[in-house]
This record gives sequence, structure tokens and C-alpha cells, in this order.
Amino acid sequence: MSILKVARMGHPALRATTRALEKSEIRGAVIQRLIDDMIDTMTEYHGVGLAAPQVHEGVRLFVAALDAGEDGDEASEPVTVINPEIIIAGSDVVEDWEGCLSIPDIRGRVPRARQITVRALDRTGSRFELSAQDFQARVIQHETDHLDGVLFLDRMKSLESLTFLDEYSRYWRKTDD
Ligand SMILES: [Zn+2]
Repeated sequence: MSILKVARMGHPALRATTRALEKSEIRGAVIQRLIDDMIDTMTEYHGVGLAAPQVHEGVRLFVAALDAGEDGDEASEPVTVINPEIIIAGSDVVEDWEGCLSIPDIRGRVPRARQITVRALDRTGSRFELSAQDFQARVIQHETDHLDGVLFLDRMKSLESLTFLDEYSRYWRKTDD
């Protein structure tokens, strides 16, 4: 397994179209290795999610550590989500902080649906459905956006909250009280 190079904002791979994966291809060595490498890469860089276009692969696949804390704490086994379809549940929209391995050291507040259901294939090619809310729903929406060439900056209502990581830590990071 290896750590992959992560494309940064401005690299055309982040804006390119992606293709769905067939079940047989998912089970093949190439995609299985890509998934392993993406999980290693996400872990290495303390991300909570990583989508294939971020590692220069134009396929509809992402990995995510949905049990991670918002600061990328230790998590259980990351999930692999292939060919996702998001169904928004309800009309609640919440704004919260996001970051992205392709936009290093920047944070911004992004509105997202609070509650979603995602239908997708797992790494064995089996269908699954997952209902998620709040942080998990946010991660899934952020990563699915990557498969459509969309970055979190595109989703911000205003750039007023755009913040460097140091300033985020000093002034905006949530504290437990
Ligand atoms: Zn991202």
C-alpha cells in the first residue's frame, strides 16, 4: 500500500467528470488497491474523507471515517462509498465548518442538508443504504460533491467566514463547555 499524492485546488482533476464503477471492476485488484491506498492516504493526512478525484482518479468512489470527531480523531474502520446517490431527508439546512485536503489550511462555513440517505455500493460491490445526519451527512455531501467536480468553496453562501487554519484554531474552533 502507498500514500497517494493529493491534488490541490487548481488541479484540473478536481473539476473533471467521473464515471460510475461496475461491480466486476470494483472487485478487481486495481480498484481494491486504490481503495486501500485512499484509506492510507486519508489516515496519513488526518482527513475524514477522501474522494477519488483528489488522487487523480476519475471514478465515483470515496472513503470516509464517519466515526471520526470533527478534528479527525481516531476512528473505526473507514467506509467505502461507490456510485453514491444522495436523497435529502427533510428541509433542515445547517451551516458548519468544513475543510478539505485539496484546500490545505483553510476552513469555511458551508450550508448542508442536516439529514440524508445515501444509496451506494460497498467495496465488495454490494448495495447498501445509510441514513446520516449532521457531521456524517456533511462528510457524505462534501465527498459526493467531489465526484461532481464541486469544492466546498462553491457551496459557501458568503466568503466572509473563509479562515486560515491558525486563525480558525485561535478564534473559531468549538470548545467543550
Ligand atoms: Zn474535500
